[in-house]
Amino acid sequence: MNPTDLLKVAHEFDAPLYVYDSAKIVSQYNRLTNAFKNVGNLRLNYAAKALSNISILRLMNGLGSGLDTVSIQEVKLGLMAGFKPECIIYTPNGVSLEEIEEAAALGVQINIDNLSILEQFGSKHPDIPVCIRINPHVMAGGNSNISVGHIDSKFGISIHQIPHLLRIVELTNMNINGIHMHTGSDILDIDVFLYASEILFETAKNFKNLEFIDFGSGFKVPYREGDIQTNVEELGKKLAQRFNEFCEEYGKELTLAFEPGKFLVSEAGYFLAKVNVVKQTTSTVFASVDSGFNHLIRPMLYGASHEIVNISNTSGRERYYSVVGYICETDTFGNNRRINEISEGDILCFKNAGAYCFTMASNYNSRYRPAEVLWHEGKAHLIRERENFDDILHRQIDVKGLFGSKKEKVPTK
Ligand SMILES: *Cc1c(COP(=O)(O)O)cnc(C)c1O
Repeated sequence: MNPTDLLKVAHEFDAPLYVYDSAKIVSQYNRLTNAFKNVGNLRLNYAAKALSNISILRLMNGLGSGLDTVSIQEVKLGLMAGFKPECIIYTPNGVSLEEIEEAAALGVQINIDNLSILEQFGSKHPDIPVCIRINPHVMAGGNSNISVGHIDSKFGISIHQIPHLLRIVELTNMNINGIHMHTGSDILDIDVFLYASEILFETAKNFKNLEFIDFGSGFKVPYREGDIQTNVEELGKKLAQRFNEFCEEYGKELTLAFEPGKFLVSEAGYFLAKVNVVKQTTSTVFASVDSGFNHLIRPMLYGASHEIVNISNTSGRERYYSVVGYICETDTFGNNRRINEISEGDILCFKNAGAYCFTMASNYNSRYRPAEVLWHEGKAHLIRERENFDDILHRQIDVKGLFGSKKEKVPTK
C-alpha cells in the first residue's frame, strides 16, 4: 500500500488503526507455494496466532491454506471461518488433556508435545491419529556452526526420549500419523534447517503409518533495510529434493507441511497512529503518538525494530525523533529515527505490523484496542470496530454495595 492510500484510510477510520493489505498476503502465500512446487503434496497451515481476525482466516481459507492453532479458541475461530476440521492442526503446549480431547472431538488433527499427555491420550483414544512434536535440539551457532543444544526448551518431545516414546506408542497401540518440529527460531541458515530436517526424517522411520511431516515455521522476513531474510526459494529447492528422496525410501508419498505465520502476514500490516505531542528536550525530540505497548508491544517486548514513516509528510526534511507512546511506562517504539519532519496531528505508519501486533494488544491503562481494516482490491473494509468505554467495563462487576457511599468519620488525632 502507498502512503496516500494509507492516509485516506486513516482519515476514514481514524487512528490508531491497523490496516492489512490482502494483495501482500496473497503474494506471500503464492511465493511460498511456488518455492515448494517440486513437492507433490504441500500443505501450508497458517499460524492463526500471528493475526487471528476471522476475516483474515477466511482469506487464508480461500487461498487453500490450512490452519495451525495453539488453543481451543483458535480451533473454534478456524471452524467459524470455514476451515474444514481436517484442515486444522492443533499444536498446543502445556494444555490439559481435557482441552486436547475437546479439540479431537471437533475432528481436528491433534499434535502432542509431551510424553505424559501422549500416554494418557493414547490409552483413552487409541483410534484417534496423533501427530507428535519433536524437539531436534538444533540451533545455529554462529557461522554455519551447528550445535545440538537448546536442551532446556519447553517445546516438543526430545529426540533423546524417542525410545520412551516408542514404548508408549507400542503399549497404547495408538496411531502416529504425523511428526512435527517447530524450533521457534528464525531460519537464517538453510543448512542448519536441513540438518534439523534430517533428524526429523531419522525419527520418522520409526513410524509406519505417517501421512505428513510438518516442518513448523521460522521463515524470517525483513523488518529494516539490510535485514537477512529466509531464502525460501533455495530452501524450497533443497528441502523438496531431500523430502522426495525420503518419501521414496519410506515407500509412500507423504505430505510436506509448514506453518508460517509471520511470513504470510507481517509485511501486509501497517499500524497507523496520530502524533499528539512533539516535545523537545535538551537532547532529544520526542514524538508521542496516541498509542503505546497496549497496541504494539513488539519493540518493547522483543526489541523488534519496526520502520516508522510519516505518511502525512513524505517529502519533508528528515530529522531525528524518538517515537514514544502515551502509556505510563517507558514505551519507546524507536529511538533517534530519521523521519520526515513531524508536526502534531501527523499520522505515523509502523511497518511489519501484520504479525503478533494486534493479537498481542491489550487494554492496559484502560485504553481501547484499535480498529482493524482490510484493504482489498482498492477498497477499505472494516474488520474490527474500535473498542469503546462499554468494552472496558464489559464483564467487570461493580460491587458498589459492599462499600456504601456514606463516609464513616475516621477519628483524627
Ligand atoms: C507461532 C507458531 C508458528 C508460526 O511461527 P512464525 O514465526 O510466525 O512463522 C508455527 N508453528 C507453531 C507451532 C507456532 O507456535
